[in-house]
Amino acid sequence: MKSLYLDYAATTPCAPEVAKLISECLTLDGNFANPASRSHRFGWQAEQAVEKARGQVAELLNADPREVVWTSGATESNNLAIKGRVEYLRLETPDIPLHIITSSIEHKAVLDTVAYLEKFHNVDVTYLTPDADGLILPSQVEGALRDDTCLVTLMAVNNELGTITDIPAIAKLLKKHSAVFHVDAAQAVGKMVVNVQAWDVDLLSLSAHKFYGPKGIGALYVRREPQVKIISQMHGGGHERGMRSGTLPTHQLAGMGEATRLVSEQLSDDETRIRTLRDRLWQGIEILGDVHLNGHESQRVANHLNVSFGGVDGEILLASLAKVAVSSGSACTSASVEPSYVLKAIGRSDVLAHAGLRMSVGRYTTADDIEQVISEISRVVTLLRKQ
Ligand SMILES: *Cc1c(COP(=O)(O)O)cnc(C)c1O
Repeated sequence: MKSLYLDYAATTPCAPEVAKLISECLTLDGNFANPASRSHRFGWQAEQAVEKARGQVAELLNADPREVVWTSGATESNNLAIKGRVEYLRLETPDIPLHIITSSIEHKAVLDTVAYLEKFHNVDVTYLTPDADGLILPSQVEGALRDDTCLVTLMAVNNELGTITDIPAIAKLLKKHSAVFHVDAAQAVGKMVVNVQAWDVDLLSLSAHKFYGPKGIGALYVRREPQVKIISQMHGGGHERGMRSGTLPTHQLAGMGEATRLVSEQLSDDETRIRTLRDRLWQGIEILGDVHLNGHESQRVANHLNVSFGGVDGEILLASLAKVAVSSGSACTSASVEPSYVLKAIGRSDVLAHAGLRMSVGRYTTADDIEQVISEISRVVTLLRKQ
């Protein structure tokens, strides 16, 4: 059996179309120049490629191109949005009390950023806890809102469970409040329609490598009307209208633009096909019995399947599934042997949290791959349960 990749939620391979475009932006005979070079044709061409990509990302999000700020990925976008907003408010009125609402199942790039502000910038934080299905409800946000709430930061799709937060309903609640709404949409772009106007959000993070673009590139959407002011976290040449300095990587951006174009073109086909494969995978392993679905059954993106197997040790299970690339909990936390904090937050015991597998299907997964994975998991789980 060849190795099979079922970890598209951790990262995706570049689409071949994307890889081709990237390779055309590297060498002297390609579009390699500094997009900020104003004095020659090489620079103008690079700038053209970068602005084309900006237009493509803006179009996908239903934003204005001037609202797209390039970053190195969703980690940086989250830092820029959250720290950048708080620092702006502190600059305006240094002693004002500030309160942030987030959830206990955010990505570490949000949780650690918020914890930093709590520790060093005297910000008060409310961590909403999910229900047993992994959902954060609009009513919880409503209940936590205070006069001094300056920021609500929640993910559109949870990276471990695939569960979808009702972002438009939360935005509606915030309509009459001065709090800014930031959404980490790293797991949503490419899996569902992300429309910043329909969603009515102020700041939104995305990352190219989650939707068949290259790693190390992403964007932060920053609303212009009404304008959301943030303080740069990276100081230098004043690129990106002063919000993020640093020479723009033409090749990465051309790749991200192309990945965005492919999403616009293929989203609904991808979604239907991937959902069928994911549902077949669930059907194939559910019959093993004592298999627990983590996360809401239907309020979930099409590619995710997170399950816990009763009666097996999580680490032995993962080690025995050497030919199938999956995650135990989130890839970002799997360096430690702590049970996933997300699975713990939805009420799973340590044992079941440890025995959790996140499988994520993608554009290049075939029906044959799924059948092989089902038979491999069935073989391994049956064997381990006999021991
Ligand atoms: C992957 C991911 C991130 C981090 O994005 P990078 O571009 O890898 O820094 C942040 N949030 C969520 C929800 C993610 O899935």
